[in-house]
Amino acid sequence: MGFTNSSLVSYVNLSPNYNVRTQSKITKITVHHTAGVGTAKRYCDGFAKASRKASANYCIGYQGEIGMSVEEKNRAWTSSSSWNDQRAVTIEASNDMVGDPWHVSDATVASIINLSADICKRNGIPSLYFDGTKNGSYTWHCFYAATACPGPYLKQITPYIVERVNNILAGGGPTPTPVVPTNPYKKPTTTVKSGSTGESVKWVQFQLNLYGYGLVVDGSYGPATTNSVKDFQGKNGLTVTGNCDMKTINALDGTPSGGSFVYGGIDYCHTFDPVYYGSKYPDLAQAFGTDQDALFKHYIQFGIKEMRQACATFNVQVYAATYKDLRDAFGPLNSKTAKKYVDHYNTNGYAEGRIAI
Ligand SMILES: [Zn+2]
Repeated sequence: MGFTNSSLVSYVNLSPNYNVRTQSKITKITVHHTAGVGTAKRYCDGFAKASRKASANYCIGYQGEIGMSVEEKNRAWTSSSSWNDQRAVTIEASNDMVGDPWHVSDATVASIINLSADICKRNGIPSLYFDGTKNGSYTWHCFYAATACPGPYLKQITPYIVERVNNILAGGGPTPTPVVPTNPYKKPTTTVKSGSTGESVKWVQFQLNLYGYGLVVDGSYGPATTNSVKDFQGKNGLTVTGNCDMKTINALDGTPSGGSFVYGGIDYCHTFDPVYYGSKYPDLAQAFGTDQDALFKHYIQFGIKEMRQACATFNVQVYAATYKDLRDAFGPLNSKTAKKYVDHYNTNGYAEGRIAI
């Protein structure tokens, strides 16, 4: 059977990270989550770097757009299992907020369903089934590696995805792609809080409604807005104040929560995620709870030199072990040199597509 590619793709940037598929038939679909918020372009462009040593057949952005990174005739490097990926078409789906439960937007879910049905049709897969093992035709990354992927939300809705795909294969129509509305108001540049009025409040209310809060967008920051902000902060590992500070504003906007952790002129967003840091180390959770500023201060003062891991995608030991050029430049990894490695990743390594996990 000849392999084809999906016509649902709107962006292509082919990755060098693949093997020729040796299996003659595609029999599985594996949906991953990106553990971040981004566009299909961003993820395809990331996989297009050889140094990344990873890829996926398709990447779906947080607004549901579909990109192609590896053609279906080739085996992508996605699921930590040659056995799986030789048989599967793999899909990396963006989250629409960072942290538990690693939520995925309705638009992205609709694209997962429509793309999966398209893959089944073109490859002669009669229907999808998931049975919680690698034997199913729909599989998870965590069957093969110690990872949380695809995250609690995509795990929870797996039966729904499978059911919708099978509905399409049985002759039902495609799943409508919800339109993600663009916020027409100007994003605030400073804290908005109880008593505030005007366009910046409307921006906050509009954004909260994307997460299902159902507020009236009236530009008046009253108790309903305050309570919604409190709820959102609690669910996203932010300090619960009811005031919409810049961290909350950025979280509402889908900006990773580590986006504003700057110290000494270096933005540590690529190595520090307060939610990850606080949940990985019980001693820190006990001392600081979910206070992101306190966690960041600890990271700067102690965490870096103690070589603690503070985000899901950067481990300084792996980083130092992987790159000889860095060891030559900074010396062997120890409590004195650790900061050089961490700083390098934030200022250069991440942008260069280096891997550290
Ligand atoms: Zn994965």
